[in-house]
Amino acid sequence: MSAAHQDLIDPFGRQIKDLRISVTDRCNFRCTYCMPEEGMQWLPRSEVMSFEEIEHLSRLFVERYGVRGIRLTGGEPTVRAHLPVLIEKLARLESADGPIDLAMTTNGATMRLIAPTLRDAGLRRVNISLDTLVREKFVRMTRRDELDNVLDGIAAAQKAGFDPVKINAVIERGVNDDEIVDLATFGRERQVEVRFIEFMPLDADGHWLSEQVVGQDEIVETINAVYPIEQMPARGAAPADRFRYLDGAGKIGVIPTVTKPFCGDCDRVRLTAEGEFRTCLFATKEFDLLSALRAGENDDQIAARIEAAVATKWAGHRINQVNFIRPGKSMSQIGG
Ligand code: SAM
Ligand code: SF4
Repeated sequence: MSAAHQDLIDPFGRQIKDLRISVTDRCNFRCTYCMPEEGMQWLPRSEVMSFEEIEHLSRLFVERYGVRGIRLTGGEPTVRAHLPVLIEKLARLESADGPIDLAMTTNGATMRLIAPTLRDAGLRRVNISLDTLVREKFVRMTRRDELDNVLDGIAAAQKAGFDPVKINAVIERGVNDDEIVDLATFGRERQVEVRFIEFMPLDADGHWLSEQVVGQDEIVETINAVYPIEQMPARGAAPADRFRYLDGAGKIGVIPTVTKPFCGDCDRVRLTAEGEFRTCLFATKEFDLLSALRAGENDDQIAARIEAAVATKWAGHRINQVNFIRPGKSMSQIGG
């Protein structure tokens, strides 16, 4: 275990504890709220962080700054070749507070094939995206006919021992808001925590409208009318507000990015697949750590860049304000 770490604290007193790493900008789905149907420009492979580079930067965050959680995302992380090799490297990282909490967000399309391998490599937790239980709607939303494979993937993840397995469901007005209760029922029956996510202005097509957002209050009221729920104690830095079913059948989460921003407690930073450091999902400025690493900068020099970047972390996003500027990148290019 490494020596005591140095706190990485932003100008608003928030301590950085969580790192999201995009391992690829590529994806085998084309979800309408994330990617365009065609014409996505992929990063050249030479510009994407190698596993060694991801490990190097992760080690810095974990050992120097005591980052406790790393979540792999993308694009679709499972389309990155040899992903278990990276997971093995990251699972070995320890901060002064102990081993890291290593998690991944995936669309689940290949989970039925790889769940035990990922678990054996040291991945502890997975979130699998599932926005609808209706096949035609799944095809419309993801532009792929993969519902059965994703459902099998959820079962495979549970069988492989991931704990917890959570479901991410982005709710869009007029698209899948009629399935809020059905998704809750699915979570209760399968014993998975469904996390309802408010639709954010990060779709590549730029079609987002505030009218399409189904807010936390509506989601909670809709579920509560069928399955009574109560809010659980404050979330801390986690993005989801959590609720439990009064009959003991489990929990749900709601990620109310748009209607109830939780920026005040945010402890997250991000690395894009090409090694750009971002201090907010909605940041308009990035800090190029990969070029610094490839130029031969030592850890103190890279750490100085990280600290300078964290000093610019803003108090919160401005989605609901007139001066909101959409980031130049969409969700899959940032790493959601
Ligand atoms: N491909 C993986 C997946 O879909 O789970 C990981 C990357 S994806 C960008 C991470 C999460 O962001 C997914 O749960 C996805 O549903 C969510 N997401 C994508 N675009 C979004 C948007 N515009 N608003 C809210 N959530 C979004
Ligand atoms: Fe791919 Fe995930 Fe974006 Fe869907 S949400 S297009 S699965 S990166």
